[in-house]
Parts: sequence; structure tokens; C-alpha cells
Amino acid sequence: MQYFSTRDNNVSVSAARAITQGISKDGGLFVPEAFPALTNDDILYLVDKSYVERATFVLSKYLTDFTEEEVKACAEAAYSLERFRSPEIAPLKPLEDGAQILELWHGPTCAFKDMALQILPHLMRVSAEKTSDGKEIVILVATSGDTGKAALEGFRDAAHTRILVFYPEDGVSPMQKLQMVTQEGGNVSVCAIRGNFDDAQTGVKTIFTDPEVADVLAENGMMFSSANSINWGRLVPQIVYYVSAYCDMLKNKVLTIGEPMNVVVPTGNFGNILAAYYAKRMGLPIAKLICASNRNRVLTDFIANGVYDRNRAFYTTSSPSMDILISSNLERLLYELSGRDDKEIRRLMEALSKDGVYTVSETVKKAIDELFVGGCCDDEETAQTIRETFETCGYLCDTHTAVAVHVYKTYRAESGDTTPTVIASTANPYKFSSSVLEALNVDASSMDEFEKVEALNGKTAEPVPSPLASLRGRTPRFNGVCDKDAMRGVVYDMLGIEE
Ligand SMILES: *Cc1c(COP(=O)(O)O)cnc(C)c1O
Repeated sequence: MQYFSTRDNNVSVSAARAITQGISKDGGLFVPEAFPALTNDDILYLVDKSYVERATFVLSKYLTDFTEEEVKACAEAAYSLERFRSPEIAPLKPLEDGAQILELWHGPTCAFKDMALQILPHLMRVSAEKTSDGKEIVILVATSGDTGKAALEGFRDAAHTRILVFYPEDGVSPMQKLQMVTQEGGNVSVCAIRGNFDDAQTGVKTIFTDPEVADVLAENGMMFSSANSINWGRLVPQIVYYVSAYCDMLKNKVLTIGEPMNVVVPTGNFGNILAAYYAKRMGLPIAKLICASNRNRVLTDFIANGVYDRNRAFYTTSSPSMDILISSNLERLLYELSGRDDKEIRRLMEALSKDGVYTVSETVKKAIDELFVGGCCDDEETAQTIRETFETCGYLCDTHTAVAVHVYKTYRAESGDTTPTVIASTANPYKFSSSVLEALNVDASSMDEFEKVEALNGKTAEPVPSPLASLRGRTPRFNGVCDKDAMRGVVYDMLGIEE
């Protein structure tokens, strides 16, 4: 299987190359040349299998330049009980009325990013052995909070690898920040930027695609790669848990084989929901893809009217990992829905970077209408959903998951669609203790972060994940802050390169 660039169909690389390189030189994203079929027999075969076996099966279909043993070794190293606090890795929990919560946060950093970032370093190592000529790999990350920590944890002390993370100074939760600035490991660096996530992402993309910087790195025996969801190695592991969720629905007799499920995803960069779309393209019976946004409702509006317009106010919300106005992975969806029209994608992406707005064709809009439902939720509705879900179902969700639950309920009430539904739960509630406590009407204004954790535990009896509890009393290692225009210098600094 080869991988094309969304902006140039003549670019064709192996999976290993797509993973080490991260992004195509033309700025496009790597996409698989075809979607391998997942038959009903395949699904039935996977029902009684472990998560590692399900992952090996699905990933092998895409990573055709890896041996099956290599894929299996990567999956085993990633999805082990040493790293995940649940034997099912991504367990399904019934909520109510046929809705199931897919908990994706049992990994070491307590957010769904671990599902991909625990395996990516292993995929990267195997890929580098195949392609990178012994160069040291420099992973450059822009984060809205969760990717940064998950990438740091995944790549810490990985051989021949350095990792540098940029996060928006005021755009992450206190717990997210603490997780990053206390990161251990000899090959890691972290820096805050004065700006929001889009600034960080744009800054990283600019450095990444700058040929001059690439030359400087090459002279120093290094090459860039990416751990953001623009990297194919980040996306492909995310397909697995949708397949796994369907298998578990069969196992729990919520569905019979072939019956459709809906999927609701709290969305920011459009990576998680795109993986669900890819699973559908493979043949997994998914009916509607329900895209849930917070007050930054650029995707809700896009799904409604086919106009992507980032020229609007940016809000910091109680679900900071979704505070994004440029959803990078949408480019991959548009590539598929436009019939893989690379010229059209170049036009749209140029319009986005020049004017901040584009309109898709009638054909693409029609395809979106058939596949997607969009919905959004403000902070007040998020809080209300956390409270109601806890009081009526006994289930405590974090702010991001609550956005999805709210959008699901609204959709179900308005459409009457009773298809069994999987709601992706993307973070553990203790990552956002302030907002969750506030939602439960507890005044936490005088508490420090760990008093909040204690208060939330006292109120809900929900167990506190050990990786968060153990942060208490840790001294920060990384206090740097830079302007968004100064990121390149910071990168050179961190790598010990003289400009
Ligand atoms: C990253 C993140 C999201 C958004 O996922 P995308 O793949 O960027 O759409 C949602 N919730 C949480 C908790 C996250 O960390």
C-alpha cells in the first residue's frame, strides 16, 4: 500500500516513509491509496480477540511494508497492562438508551491521545530503520494540551529521538500544564508560546516545511517528524478502537453483525472522527458520524452550510483540547469527498491560508450531508450535561466527553434516530477537575489543583488515576515562554544548533 499527498497525487511513498516524514513536502497530508476491506467475517473473527490482536489485524492492512511480527511487537509494547489501567484497553460502558461510552483514556496521560501516541514511537522506530539512514529524529509538537503530554510520555528516552513540545501559555488546563512541565526524560523539551493553539500549530507547520531549516537539521544529522494527527502513524491506530467498539457491541449483544452504529466524537483537529470515517470506508457498519464541537463551532457551521470560515472570534472554553479553528485533518476528508481531486484541495487550502475561508462544491456538500451530523454546545450546557449525566446515570464525564453527550442527546431528540451509538470519551474527568467540580456546584475557587482532585473524589468516589495523583509536589523542569515568531530559534536552542 502506497500513500499519496492530498495536494499532489503524483507523490507516492511507503507507510514507513509517510510515518517518518510526517507531512508531504508540498504541505499536503499523507493518505492511503485505498481503503482495505473489513468484511463481516473479519469482524466476527475479531469479536473474541484481545485489543492487541484487533490492532495487529487492522494495522497490518495499512502498514504493508511492515511484517506482521513487527506490527504485533509494536501493538504489544503499546497496549500492555504496564501502560494501560484497563485490560480491555478501550472499554465500552453503557450509558442509557443504547448509548455506549467508549473510554479512551486509560493510558498513562489519561486522555485519548495515548491510544495513538503509545504505539507511534514504536511504529516510528521500525519506520526509521527502514527509511531514515541513521538520522536522529526530531519530533516537533504543537499541542492544545493532551497531545503534548502523550507524545512526551510516548517518546521519552526513545533511542535516536528528540521531542520538542509547544503549548499555548494560557490555553491548557492547570493539570495539563503540570503534566507537561514536570515531564521526565533525557530527550524532551517543553516551551509555552504567547498565542493560541492555532498559532502553535501554524508555527510548527511553518518550521516543519521550511527547506532552510531542513538543511540545517540535515547538516547536524537530524530530521523532523511529527507526532500531531497530521502524521499517518497517529491516525491509523485510531481506526482500531472503532472496530474494537463494534466487536464489543456484538459481544455485549447490543447489535448483531451488519447492523449499523452511530458514532459521536468531541472534535478539535478532526483526527479522531476522521479515523471513524476511515473505519466506515473499510466496511465497518457506521451510519452517522456525529461531530461535536464546543463554542468554537467552526465545524458545526461547516457541516451545516459547506463554508469553512475561520474568520471569527476564538473562545477559550472548559474543553480546551477542542479550542481550535483550523481543523487540519478535514483536508483528508475533503480529498476523499472530492474524488481525490488534488488540484481542488490545493485551491481550498490556499484560500484557507490566504482568506481564512473556503466553500466546498455541491458534490462535496451532498456527501457531507449523507455522512455527518454537526452539533455544538457552550460551557453552560457542558456543565449541565456533566451534572445530569452524573445524577441520572451515575457516570462522571470530563468536559470534552460532555460536549459529545450533549450533542448526542440533542440529535437523538430532534431526529428520533435510535441507532445504537458509541460516544467517544476522550479524557478522564480529573484532568479538568475545576470545570467538573464547578459543574457539580462545588465552589473550588480557593482550592489548589490537588485539593480539587480530592474534593472531586470526595464528591463522586470516582477513582483518581495514579499518573495524576503522583504529580503532587513535583517541581517544574520547563518554565520557558516564547513569542510565536520566535519558535524557530527556540527549536535550534533546544537542539543545541548554532544559528
Ligand atoms: C485532542 C482532544 C480532542 C479532539 O480530538 P481531535 O482528534 O483533535 O478532533 C477531544 N478531546 C480531548 C480530551 C482531546 O485531548
